[in-house]
Amino acid sequence: MPTCRHCFSTYPRNYFIHGVGPRAQVCVRCGVEKGLVTEEEAPTLFNNSQKNARFGIVARRYSFFLYLPILWIFWSVSLSEVNPWGMYFLIALILLTLLTPLWFIYRASQFSGDMARLTPAYDRPEGH
Ligand SMILES: [Zn+2]
Repeated sequence: MPTCRHCFSTYPRNYFIHGVGPRAQVCVRCGVEKGLVTEEEAPTLFNNSQKNARFGIVARRYSFFLYLPILWIFWSVSLSEVNPWGMYFLIALILLTLLTPLWFIYRASQFSGDMARLTPAYDRPEGH
């Protein structure tokens, strides 16, 4: 993946503007910020609502892996001594922990479909 000359970030090729001289190796965000291209000329620059929607999808996909350790810590700190609810919660927690990777794999195609829906159409120009 190429690196932007201005912000030193690496992106796939379709997140770069095209041209030579000052426009070579410049990502779409730096290109718009430095006035090399307009926003209409950079279809792969995400606007704010696209950014928020994409972040929401990613957060929804990975939030399970944040909640599970929190639930385990909650159980070990406060519920493990309580009878019988500590045992019930432990069983539910074990089931949840075992089902999470399956759910993650099961939802992968939904996730990539949602991300594709929120990715602007892009035609690679000749020679790139
Ligand atoms: Zn850049």
